[in-house]
Amino acid sequence: MMLALVGMLLLQMGAATRAIHDYNVYHPYTEIDSWMTGILIDNPDIVSIERYGQTYEKRDINLLRIGERTGAMKKVAWMDCGIHAREWISPAFCQYFIKQILQEYRVHGSRMAAMMKEMDFYVTPVLNVDGYIYSWLNGTRLWRKNRSPGTGSCSCYGTDLNRNFNVTWGTIGVSTNCCSETYGGTAALSSPEAASVTRYLEQRKADVLLFLTIHSYGQLILVPYGNPNLTAPNYGQLMKVGLAAAAEMKKVHGMSYRVGTSPDILYPNSGSSRDWARLAGIPYSFTFELRDNGTFGFELPEEQIQPACEEAYSGAMHIINHVHREQFNAAVSVATASLLGVLLATCVTVANNAF
Ligand SMILES: [Zn+2]
Repeated sequence: MMLALVGMLLLQMGAATRAIHDYNVYHPYTEIDSWMTGILIDNPDIVSIERYGQTYEKRDINLLRIGERTGAMKKVAWMDCGIHAREWISPAFCQYFIKQILQEYRVHGSRMAAMMKEMDFYVTPVLNVDGYIYSWLNGTRLWRKNRSPGTGSCSCYGTDLNRNFNVTWGTIGVSTNCCSETYGGTAALSSPEAASVTRYLEQRKADVLLFLTIHSYGQLILVPYGNPNLTAPNYGQLMKVGLAAAAEMKKVHGMSYRVGTSPDILYPNSGSSRDWARLAGIPYSFTFELRDNGTFGFELPEEQIQPACEEAYSGAMHIINHVHREQFNAAVSVATASLLGVLLATCVTVANNAF
């Protein structure tokens, strides 16, 4: 009894501490980690934390799985943040996104509440944990890659995780020099981080409707593929949905986001997680490059966290709603169509009988 009381008090104290999590500042990894635990404690009915891999320096890579536990296999919307260490607005967005979807879920009768019965969100707030922690040390704010050491005679650190996935690996927009910012690693999936994402999603890809990976900066929505010789079979649909998302984003604070493949609007590249996800069969795959256009670059001031997150949320939700509607309303339409068929057949029978 006493222990239960103490436990309750500790929970309440924890809740009080968590209540001050400030979404308008950047947080070091230890704070994001505690925040994840807090989200779990506050929402045990719909949130679980899943460890699905380890970084080079043996830190856990965790995602928050958010959705109603129906007992059925559910569809999945994936989001990862912080694959590039210095893009601090990205983990800030994942925190904001989780706060928002949980708030909306708690509104009785909301679309989010309905959606979470059919679809789970798998959100990794920081994928490149080692790199993110390193970017918080003195003088290394602009670190991008993971923290694996170079091999052979190369003494630099880090593989660019977004050049290390197994899709046209090592072919274009990638470096073989381990000191380069875009060093693709010794082989596809040579980094434990990219290997963890791949292994995890390979098992679930049939249920994953959407893969959304969050970067900065440049204000872009990128669709597959980074290699100009490849075109996604649903390129037209990806562009249509991406352009509509950008239009929604513009409505929020007037900011323009361009939409296209990486070679068309940024630069060609290979080995990205977005391209791997599309090639693996996940139908909708996008990269968001958040604010800004280069004024502050990776060091986006904290005053811009909230507006950047608000507009990105609007774009992400446009895509999520589209993907969800397409999956589940289509199923409803099929059911309605067969019901109509039965009714029509009945009418025809009645009509025949009448004559
Ligand atoms: Zn990036």
